[in-house]
Amino acid sequence: MIKRILIANRGEIALRIIRCCRVLDIETLLVYSSADADSLPVQLAQYAVCIGSPLPKDSYLRMDTIIETALKNGCDAIHPGYGFLSENAEFARKCEENGLVFIGPSAELIEMLGDKQSARDLMKKNKVPTVPGSDGLIKDAKEAAKIAKKIGYPVLIKASGGGGGRGMRRAYSENEIENAFDEARAEALSTCGNGDMYMEKLIINPHHIEFQILGDKMGNVIELGDRDCSIQRRNQKMVEESPSKFISEKTRKKMAKAALRAAKAAGYYSAGTVEFVVDDKENFYFIEMNTRIQVEHPVTEAITGVDIVKEQIRIAEGLALSYKQEDVKKTGHAIEFRINAENPFNNFSPSPGEIKYLHLPDGIGIRVETMLYQGYTVSPYYDSLVAKIIAYAPKRLEAIKRMRAALEEMMVEGVDTNIEFLFLLTFNPEFIKGSYDTSFMEKNTKGLLEWNLAGRKAAEEAEKSLEKEAG
Ligand code: ADP
Repeated sequence: MIKRILIANRGEIALRIIRCCRVLDIETLLVYSSADADSLPVQLAQYAVCIGSPLPKDSYLRMDTIIETALKNGCDAIHPGYGFLSENAEFARKCEENGLVFIGPSAELIEMLGDKQSARDLMKKNKVPTVPGSDGLIKDAKEAAKIAKKIGYPVLIKASGGGGGRGMRRAYSENEIENAFDEARAEALSTCGNGDMYMEKLIINPHHIEFQILGDKMGNVIELGDRDCSIQRRNQKMVEESPSKFISEKTRKKMAKAALRAAKAAGYYSAGTVEFVVDDKENFYFIEMNTRIQVEHPVTEAITGVDIVKEQIRIAEGLALSYKQEDVKKTGHAIEFRINAENPFNNFSPSPGEIKYLHLPDGIGIRVETMLYQGYTVSPYYDSLVAKIIAYAPKRLEAIKRMRAALEEMMVEGVDTNIEFLFLLTFNPEFIKGSYDTSFMEKNTKGLLEWNLAGRKAAEEAEKSLEKEAG
């Protein structure tokens, strides 16, 4: 049994893991960078060890230092959270070699599924639909042009090791292909150091719908339902909800089956996510499998009541899943909004700084996951995600209204955030109706910003006229 877990992460996900461990009576040791010395997880973990300076490569990505710290301090397992080392097969292998339990799947599974092209091959073999595209890797732009001609434009050139929307470019015709290939490859090389490229047909304005999977080391695999993550900015998720309003019950069942088939074919264990793009006719295609806990996991926890982090730890201990498929009941509707410290009016650029005042929302159906506190300084070195609000209600519209009320109540002073922007999103008719796809933000960002500006101006004018009246 695991007694002490080293948490190799920071921010809200580190807190999520610490809180879970408290309930399980497992001790926690947090490794942190000097930039995070005053952070909430450092204060709440039983033990905390500074392992380096702010840049991730000097702290959160230092594999050997992290493993040494675990061994020296009597930890028996490592939880990597998301990002950083969570999908690094080499790190998982080093943990195994040093007798530490990596809370996630095996190094082999991470390797196979983290390579998108090899994951595609596995899915094809197991009759999980994949996007039509290249068989295997493409070596240069010339070969890309040949394949594109065969599958038909538009196409999407993608990096096999890509993540976070990096290393992919669209090409709508033959004269765009060389540029698209070179740009995608250059971006892939600079972000993940892997220039392996493949090609998919570009699905026009698809929906992004994913399934949460849990598997144990005995071979039991269950699914915890879907999440619609189509509201994205530059291929990065902003809003996630479950169940998806777009797909029919018939499609949902078919997709769940395909997701289970995918996980079983891989021999998957731990928490994982099978991601699909879905076209307007509800044809769905596997795009990748994530082998870690995801930012949006609370959406699924809200509708199923399953503590996914707890299951992840139990699975790592070698225990069987606490649930059989028939035990999993999905009820109600949940939506997550990601609160970022960023300025929507300045191209969503990060806005680090000290939190001068903070009020967090609460109330029925509201869950807030955040590392913020009054006096905390949002660091410029890391992701701008500072809070997640999850609204849950029996019906979707009520969940939206609960979210709207929560956003209205939340106050953050000292840094810019996207709270107002997201608040206005809850009034967008397409969003309210649930008729949106991945092109939503491209089409609506400008409108939401203008709406916001107009609203602010009107308020200012009203205030001015009142002041005038008062003399
Ligand atoms: P990453 O690992 O970088 O997040 P994904 O393969 O998961 O990359 O894709 C991210 C997003 O890019 C998807 O959610 C979807 O919006 C878009 N996308 C990916 N593949 C396709 C495709 N074949 N056609 C259209 N859009 C796609």
